[in-house]
Amino acid sequence: MSSQSVREIHEKIRYIHSLYRQLKTLVARYDNVRLRIKVQKKKTADAEARCAELKSQHAKMCAEIREAEGRYDLIDAALQKRKTQLDQAKNNKEYTSLKDQIADDQKRNDALADKILEQTEKAEEFVPRIESADAEIKAARAAQAEVEKELRDMVPELNESSQYIREEIRKNLKEVDADFVPPLRDALRAFDGDQAMAPVEGEYFCGGCRMEIPMQYIVALCEGKPYTCGSCGRFIYLPKGFVINNEDEDD
Ligand SMILES: [Zn+2]
Repeated sequence: MSSQSVREIHEKIRYIHSLYRQLKTLVARYDNVRLRIKVQKKKTADAEARCAELKSQHAKMCAEIREAEGRYDLIDAALQKRKTQLDQAKNNKEYTSLKDQIADDQKRNDALADKILEQTEKAEEFVPRIESADAEIKAARAAQAEVEKELRDMVPELNESSQYIREEIRKNLKEVDADFVPPLRDALRAFDGDQAMAPVEGEYFCGGCRMEIPMQYIVALCEGKPYTCGSCGRFIYLPKGFVINNEDEDD
C-alpha cells in the first residue's frame, strides 16, 4: 500500500491534468495571435496585389493613349502637308486625289480623337480607385503591425507562464504514486499533453472517449490501483467529489 491515500493520489493527478490544460490554453492564445497575423498578412498582400493590378491597368491605358496621340500627330502632319499640296496640284485628277486623301485622313483622325477622349476619361476613373487601394494597403499594414506588436508583447509573459507550468508539472510528476507512474508515462508518450488524461465522467464513463469503464476497474481505482481506458488509452483518474467507497468505509 502506498503512503498516499487514494484521494491524495487522484488529487495530485487531477492537479497535473489542470496544469496541462493551462499549458494548452497558453499555447492556444499564442497560436491564435499567430493565426491572426497570418490572416492580416494575407489581407495586406491582397490589398497590395489589387493596387498593383489597378496601377498596371492604368499604366497600360496611359501608354495606349500616348501611342494613339502619336499616331494622331503623324496623321495630322501628313494631312497638313497634303493641304499645302492642294494649292500646287498640277491637274484636276491630282487635286481630287489629294482631296480624297485629306478627307480620309480627317476621318481617321476624328475617330482617333474620339478614342483618345474616351480612353482618357476611362483612365481618369482609375485615379480615385488607385487612391482608395493605396489607403487600403496603409490600413492593412497598420492592422498587421498592431497584431505583430500584440504578439511581441505577449511573448515574454507567455514564456514565463509556460516555463512555470512546465516546472510545476515536472515537480508534481515526481510526486505521483509509484504504481501510477508507468501507466501515466505511457499515456503521456502516446498523447499530446492534456489529452493523455481523463477523469471518470458520471459514475463509470471515460471523460476522454465517453466509453463505459467496466465496474471492476472503477472498484480498482477506488482501491488505489491505476487504470488506463481500454478504448482510448487515456490515463483515468477520479474527479473531485467522486465517492470513493473504500475511504468512506474507513472514515
Ligand atoms: Zn477512453
